[in-house]
Order: sequence, then structure tokens, then C-alpha cells
Amino acid sequence: MRYRTPSYMDKFHCIADKCKDSCCIGWEIDIDEKTKAYYDSVDTPFAERLKKDIKDGCFVLDEKERCPFLNDKNLCDIYINLGKEHLCQICSDHPRYYEWFGELKEGGIGLSCEEAARVILSNDFSLKETEIEEEEDLPDYDMEVFAALEKARDMILEKLNETGEKKVPLEFLLSWMLKYGKVLQLKLDEYSAEMEEIQEKVISELPEDAQIFGETNSEAAFGENPSEESPFGADAKTHDDGIIEEDDLAQFLMNGRVRSTLMAYFQTLEPMSNSWIPFLEMCDQVNRMHISDTKWLDEINSEKYEIYFRRLASYFIYRYFMKAVFDLDAAGKIKFAVLSTYMIWLLARCTIELTGQCDFEDLALLAKNYSKEIEYSEENLEKLM
Ligand code: SF4
Repeated sequence: MRYRTPSYMDKFHCIADKCKDSCCIGWEIDIDEKTKAYYDSVDTPFAERLKKDIKDGCFVLDEKERCPFLNDKNLCDIYINLGKEHLCQICSDHPRYYEWFGELKEGGIGLSCEEAARVILSNDFSLKETEIEEEEDLPDYDMEVFAALEKARDMILEKLNETGEKKVPLEFLLSWMLKYGKVLQLKLDEYSAEMEEIQEKVISELPEDAQIFGETNSEAAFGENPSEESPFGADAKTHDDGIIEEDDLAQFLMNGRVRSTLMAYFQTLEPMSNSWIPFLEMCDQVNRMHISDTKWLDEINSEKYEIYFRRLASYFIYRYFMKAVFDLDAAGKIKFAVLSTYMIWLLARCTIELTGQCDFEDLALLAKNYSKEIEYSEENLEKLM
């Protein structure tokens, strides 16, 4: 099986006791069945603690919401007593994430871990592929859509990571991404409507016993090449050529009132920590003081910062865009990547106003906090996509 990850993936190592915001605090962890069975079989003195501190398949957090196995040195007692190989799946994976697409597995490190955030922000974005031993899944989606989305994602990532003369200012690029997302979505909608129509026709013509199962996959129904026309054909390319002209959305994003609306909207989302909403409220006030200042974000668009936001946008696009193959919502994935990059950008600008600075470390922690609040809440993710 092919295994694809950002090239920086191997640079990540958990910093354990040096972590300011350990993932062993504040998260309810479900222990997978295999690990739970192993914990049940332990017969050393450590078994007493495993029995006491695990209830209903979860670690019982203490009154400070710490994992009961996180010791005073912020090290894991399960790791120490049973070994790394006996951490449960979630603990040993975190902050790594994976997605399976038939014979391709994609992985990466999630922004919600402060050390992963440092790695994501400090490394140029590129992808690498290796072969791994893992059983392949049968893809349960349209391969043609997958290929088209992959091509579209490659193009977006290439533009985000362009250097030299070809580099397009980030606010224009984010605007173009939104517009490109709309074009992709139109094509996808047309394509899936056509597919549905053809599929219904084929199903209605199937002999009765096949109809009982009520399903067919596109390859079986239409042969290996179901459609001559790619869902993202010539139109998308024409749009791509118009990249520099699409500055109306850039203006829109830079508008102070739009910033306020966004800020207000984010305050309505489910908070994961107590400090998040007060932080957003402070940023909201700062933003209101600069509501008619169209140049207010310029500093963040400077050489010093801009590269970090390109890397963040690349992270969000890489992590979420291909999921559109399952729900056919490409525009939603792009919108989420743009909104997230833009919000972190805006919060960084507010941080400069509030504290006088937003250096690399501040930005990494800000991005990590955003990710914890948004990416690790299914409800928030659904609302923003
Ligand atoms: S948040 Fe990241 S660095 Fe911190 S303890 Fe968890 S995996 Fe390690």
C-alpha cells in the first residue's frame, strides 16, 4: 500500500514533560478493545491501578482533568510500567492522524499538539510517499472523482508553496481558493447529478434479483471509464488563469466588519476550554477598534509571517480536502481551510495589539489552541465546513 505524508512527519517527537499543554489533560480517552484486554490481563502490582483508574473503557480523569496515569513529572506511568507498545491506540497515535483511500493511506500530524504545531509551522510543505505493509481497503467512492480531487489539491498546494516570481500574495490566493472551490463544487454537483441519473437508469434496468440489493458501483455499471468528461475540466483551468484578477474576495476578507462578523460567529461555537471565549472577546474588542482600517492586517502579510500562514493553509488543505471524495463537498473543505488560516491570521494580529508581539512560539501556541477548539470538536467542524 502507498503511504503518503507531509515530508516533515518524521521530525515530530513528543516532548512529554516539557509540553505546556499535555494531551493527557482535559481529553476523555476511549481505550481500544485490544489494549483494554491487555490491561485486564496484567497481573503485576500495577494491575491495581489499571483496575482503579479505568472505568467503562476510559481513563478516569482527576479533579484537574488530568489522566490518572500522568505522574507529577508529567510522564505517563503506563509507558513507564508497561512499555510504549502498550499505550492504547489513541495515546500512541496522537497527534498523528490517518485517512484510507483504497490502496493509498494518507497521514500527518495534527495541529492540536504544540510540538506538532512547531513542526508544521517551521517546515516547508511537501509530500513524500513510501510503500507499507498494510491490508488495502476497497475504495467505496468514485475513482474518477478521487483522481480529479487529487489533481485539484496538488494544484492548490503548489500555489500555496510557490516561491520567487510565481508567488501570489496570500490574501489573493485565499480569495482565489474560495472561488476555485465554488467552480469545483459546480462541476462536482453536475457530475454527481449526471451519475445519479445514469445510475438510476441502470438500476431500473437491472434484472430483479440484482435490484433487491439496490446498489451497484460505478465501475461495475459503467466500465472502467465511467465518463469521458472529468468533473473538473476546461472551465476550472480558465478560472485558474484568472488568479490575479480575483481580488474582490481579498477586499472582502480584509474588511473590518467582515472580521467582526467572523469574530462574533466563532464566539457562538462550542468552546473546548474556559479561556477560549474570553480570548475571542478580547480580540473582538481589539478588532472593533480597527474596524475601518483596511491595512490593519498588512503586517501579518509581511515576509516575517506570511510563510507560516501558507504552511497553515497547506496543512488544512492537505488534511481535509480529499475527504470530499466521501461527501462530494469540495467547496466546504476549501472554505474551512481559508477560514481557519484567516482566523489564525486575525487572532495573531490581535495578539500583537494585546501583548506587543506574536513571535514564532506565540503563533505556534495560537494555532494549537485554534486547532484544539475547532478541529477536535465534531460539532464545530461540521458548522464550519
Ligand atoms: S500534546 Fe504533543 S508534545 Fe504534548 S504530550 Fe501530547 S503528543 Fe506530546
